[in-house]
Amino acid sequence: LPVPSPGRTPPRALTIAGSDSGGGAGIQADMRTMAMSGVHACVAVAAVTVQNTTGVTGFHPVPPGIVAGQIRTVVQDIDVQAAKTGMVAEAQIIEAIVETCIDVGIGGGRGSAEPSGGEARRTVPLVVDPVCASMHGDPLLEPHSLAALRDRLVPLADLVTPNLDEVRLLTGVDVTDRATQRDAARALVDLGARWALVTGGHLRADADGPTAESTDLLYDGADWFEFSGPRVHTGDDHGGGDTLAAAITCALTTGATMPDSVAHGKEWVTRCLNWSYPLGAGHGPVSPLW
Ligand code: PLP
Repeated sequence: LPVPSPGRTPPRALTIAGSDSGGGAGIQADMRTMAMSGVHACVAVAAVTVQNTTGVTGFHPVPPGIVAGQIRTVVQDIDVQAAKTGMVAEAQIIEAIVETCIDVGIGGGRGSAEPSGGEARRTVPLVVDPVCASMHGDPLLEPHSLAALRDRLVPLADLVTPNLDEVRLLTGVDVTDRATQRDAARALVDLGARWALVTGGHLRADADGPTAESTDLLYDGADWFEFSGPRVHTGDDHGGGDTLAAAITCALTTGATMPDSVAHGKEWVTRCLNWSYPLGAGHGPVSPLW
């Protein structure tokens, strides 16, 4: 990523996500990572959560037209180079996001609109973090909206970054080892994502042997890439998934390849896990505040 300098416009990213009032995850995590990466963060708020470090007690979805309007208004003015989605709350919001992104040229997944006239359409890369629930199990997506996430938003994604619970909900694959991690990546690409990243951070020691490493698997339907990092043992890992996806999005603003962007994201989130801090009575956040 370029070194910031006074008066020079930094790279630009757009996050379409939910607010975490506790400041640990969601938009707040995305903006921390983007700011600390020297990337200007544009924000389309999709939902407001009522949340502290002990859990989410409620959320209020933003009207779909307002979510769409934020995206459209931002890209009409600001040359956004990469985008990500996080918490998108419900089917109507997902539909508004998908229609708007297709219209303004965000998202190059296999399910994005075919280019007309045979000309390849250059799209802004889209990272979809398919947020379904908080680490405490509190729902962040209306349960009946899972199909919209799977059938509408994932096919628009240049990259989808589910955790193991989200993989199970989206594909039915229960990831317990490296083989099922591969099955899950295949299933996600079959859903229409250009690339799928199946993180292994929550995999227990298993047939692969006792794991001191966390290995994430990246797949595009043809090639496999593995990213290993030391497993960081901390209870303060709130916002880890958001931070990984946000760091990958930052790298994509520079035109980096997907494997290079994921390598950057993996390194970034590992460092953020090492810099996480206790906060409140629950789980503190991962942190780029070094
Ligand atoms: N709150 C919001 C707004 C989020 O977007 C997310 C995750 O993406 C969470 C909470 C949950 O984060 P965690 O899984 O770290 O609890």
